[in-house]
Amino acid sequence: MPKEINRFPKHFALRLIDWQKKSGRHDLPWQKSTDPYRVWLSEIMLQQTQVATVLERYPRFLERFPTLKSLALASQDEVLAEWSGMGYYSRARNLHRCAQIVWHEWGGQFPEHVDDLITLPGIGRSTAAAIAVFSFGKKEAILDGNVKRVLSRLSGFEGDLSKSGDTQLLWDAAEQLLPETAQQLRSYTQGLMDFGATLCVPKAKCLSDSQQCPFALECKAKQEKRVLELPRKMKRVKVQDLTLEWYIPVLAQKVYLQKRDESGIWAGMWTFPEQLNKKSNSSLELEPLVHVLTHRRLQILRTVVLGAKLKDDAVGRWFTYEEALEQAIPKPVKDTLKSLMKLAVTL
Ligand code: SF4
Repeated sequence: MPKEINRFPKHFALRLIDWQKKSGRHDLPWQKSTDPYRVWLSEIMLQQTQVATVLERYPRFLERFPTLKSLALASQDEVLAEWSGMGYYSRARNLHRCAQIVWHEWGGQFPEHVDDLITLPGIGRSTAAAIAVFSFGKKEAILDGNVKRVLSRLSGFEGDLSKSGDTQLLWDAAEQLLPETAQQLRSYTQGLMDFGATLCVPKAKCLSDSQQCPFALECKAKQEKRVLELPRKMKRVKVQDLTLEWYIPVLAQKVYLQKRDESGIWAGMWTFPEQLNKKSNSSLELEPLVHVLTHRRLQILRTVVLGAKLKDDAVGRWFTYEEALEQAIPKPVKDTLKSLMKLAVTL
């Protein structure tokens, strides 16, 4: 049975809007526009990337792909290369597919309604609601990880957020808390995001002792000293250990990369071969790397193979180090290339 949800502080929406005006974030570049392309891009980038990184990469991405059309007509390789270093590459693939669908099937215009937005790749219910609010002034509730935490703590919600029934109760509450006008909705939604990102943060103890939380006197989690216990999520994702072996062919200051399949880890990106049949003169072991993905902890064993005579073909190509760094490569490949560049004098 889903747990009951308790009451929220009185006039929550108006007080949050007031807090946002005084203490929220006002200078983030994506806040300056209601253009759905820009709003959507910022929402996707912010899903799993720190604000400080998005501040650097968002303008760069827009310079490379200034319009929905430019993104839709680009190749997946170009999009992955621009996304390189931000991780969670399924976001980049979905971003590209979404741009293509909006360009070809929606006449280049994002739909306004949540029910249509969530049919697009990479857009979940909360992201759809954020786009609908910020770009189209719709009355929709967001409920991302930050908002779940804020609402759970304020109301002392005991529900288990790995269960859909309990999460639905929070959705219902989020909808009931919405203010009325489009202007209020934008400030309120931004306020919820800012509040969860800067004040009611995940791991630290409640920051309201050092920073003013307007709800400190009514917050159930604070009153009951359960701030770090909420929200509750019983089912933890199991992390799987996996070992990868990379053979890194190097010849005359060039390095050989292979394009990965369109499914699995780092789909469609360039990495080093995991098997190598060609004979070579000598090899060199690099320190193993550990790289953590959402559900996997990878141990990557790296052997530099000197002088392997491989030819460019459908999946593999020789690149100079500089060219290789420009491709769609995941972070461990980038780190390996940088190590190789340092070693290049002796190879
Ligand atoms: S009192 Fe603390 S836990 Fe409660 S809403 Fe404010 S910041 Fe969050």
